[in-house]
Amino acid sequence: MNKNQILKQYFGYDSFREGQETLIDSILSGRDAFGIMPTGSGKSLCFQIPALMMEGITLVISPLIALMKDQVAALNQAGVFAAFLNSSLTASQYHKALSFAKEGKYPIIYVAPERLMTEEFQDFARHARIAMVAVDEAHCVSQWGQDFRPSYLKIVDFINQLPVRPVVSAFTATATKEVREDIIDILMLREPEVVTTGYDRPNLYLGVQAPKDKYAAVKNFIDTHPNQSGIIYCQTRKLVEEVCDRLGRDGISVTRYHAGLSDKERHQNQDDFIFDRYQVMVATNAFGMGIDKSNVRFVLHYNMPKSIEELYQEIGRTSRDQEPGECILFYSGQDVVMNQFFIDNNQDNQELDDLTRKVVTERDRERLKKMTYYCFTNECLRDYILRYFGEYGSNYCGNCVNCLTQFETVDVTEIAKALIGCVSSSRQRYGVNVIIDTVHGANTAKIRQYRMDTNPYYSVLAKTPSYKLRQVVNHLMLKEYLTVTNDEYSIVKLTADSEKLMESQEPVMMKMAKEQEPALREKTGKKSKKPKLAGVELTEQDEALFEKLRRLRAEIAKEEKVPPYIVFSDKTLVHMCAVKPKTKTEMLTVSGVGEFKYDKYGERFMQCMDSDLSI
Ligand code: ADP
Ligand code: MG
Ligand code: ZN
Repeated sequence: MNKNQILKQYFGYDSFREGQETLIDSILSGRDAFGIMPTGSGKSLCFQIPALMMEGITLVISPLIALMKDQVAALNQAGVFAAFLNSSLTASQYHKALSFAKEGKYPIIYVAPERLMTEEFQDFARHARIAMVAVDEAHCVSQWGQDFRPSYLKIVDFINQLPVRPVVSAFTATATKEVREDIIDILMLREPEVVTTGYDRPNLYLGVQAPKDKYAAVKNFIDTHPNQSGIIYCQTRKLVEEVCDRLGRDGISVTRYHAGLSDKERHQNQDDFIFDRYQVMVATNAFGMGIDKSNVRFVLHYNMPKSIEELYQEIGRTSRDQEPGECILFYSGQDVVMNQFFIDNNQDNQELDDLTRKVVTERDRERLKKMTYYCFTNECLRDYILRYFGEYGSNYCGNCVNCLTQFETVDVTEIAKALIGCVSSSRQRYGVNVIIDTVHGANTAKIRQYRMDTNPYYSVLAKTPSYKLRQVVNHLMLKEYLTVTNDEYSIVKLTADSEKLMESQEPVMMKMAKEQEPALREKTGKKSKKPKLAGVELTEQDEALFEKLRRLRAEIAKEEKVPPYIVFSDKTLVHMCAVKPKTKTEMLTVSGVGEFKYDKYGERFMQCMDSDLSI
């Protein structure tokens, strides 16, 4: 079989996505390959398809047990023999799997990196024919990366002691320049074919909100997205507990995940979410790496993450099947303070000497700043992220809150000058709130205590609402006319450009959201009770059919003890509703239905549709 036939027969897809063919061809020609492609773009097929075509075994190195389990289950469902070797197996299961492997039963074996250097595995590897070593989540080799795993450093030792060097391929979704270079160097890739496809995930709606009541905003979001699976990320374990409890009491189907729970409970909750037994997962950032659940329709951030890398990794878990999804960050000033605290008290890496630690902390603060600006900017959010990763998109995506909000360009010269003047005349000693309260003329104990009521700028903008003053402060920081100190006090300071602005005759212009009628705001805000699936808007009748197919899928998933999306993705079910296949040939035209899955489930799904049509 050639690669196109395998794509169709095993995976049920008609065509390759961007980048896949180049990587597959490279591997098949014996050349190392390095794929840097965003989450959900289909990296697994890039090593799985050649693995089925090459003579010999492909070892896939993967950092997490959950990830291996999921991928092996998906392969088994597609009719491919595959196995995993990790610490979740008992000793006798492990030996059994290894002896099957020795008999050449599996073209693909997933291995945890810690296993590679064990006596037993080495013995196997020396006598087997290893055609390829595929390193998934390859950023784990780099200390620059977000999930450095020392055990990944062993991979190259392992490869080096094999009798014949196999093709080596590496895959990652998040890689800045340093991480990319590290991956090539540390894994010692040989003139790899490097494929980078865009970071852009146009199917994800991006939003930022600063609601007064975060909980109410989140609850409202879930209420308007019934039956949609989603994740809510919170900054701390305590907050996870609180939010989860409260949602549960409010009747939402919800579970939770954080490092403070027992292993058992974590696994249980994770499975409950993956198997669609609970709709919503509330979690710290400990949750999610390697979670392949493809029908997560929203990721909400209850707090601002500490970097764009983290944000993008987390929202990347939305709609991996390329359907529309929504990612909304609920920002508050407190989030910045908390993150600063975490950065300053980070004890993660005990081996760092003082100097290195200082450098790392400084880098983290800089990342936090860029993250904070994301919450302030009135420009396209997608463009902001892409630029952060060194890509240049258009400055209008049409699918983020800023692109969908009507702005007007406003002259804020007077406000800008008052704010900068206030900072300067109070000798750069105070934080944002004091500055704003001063020009606004607040009569608070703090203001009196700091004697800011005698400041020349006191109350000069009494008529301008505070939120507007804050927007202008944010704008001035974004444009570097003001800055804040990186310590816990966040003191507002002047910059080299502050004085220029004060002396300039040029007006200071900024984009501000147009004041809208509330009704209008609802309309332009993201409503999407029912997002279109597969770009198809289902008719009411088809929607009912879709629900029916979903139930059948849940039933089968239960019988087979696999997550529902491993049986068929949502996209496949939608496509099925549209095609309404009555014969095998018609069924095989549905995206995601391969021969093997047809044999297993085709009849049942056709029957299910048939009984529906006759109603
Ligand atoms: P990644 O590892 O890059 O995050 P996955 O390999 O998990 O992504 O793939 C994400 C989803 O895309 C899976 O459901 C997979 O079956 C699907 N997919 C991969 N390649 C194709 C393709 N050529 N056509 C349609 N769907 C695909
Ligand atoms: Mg992957
Ligand atoms: Zn946009």
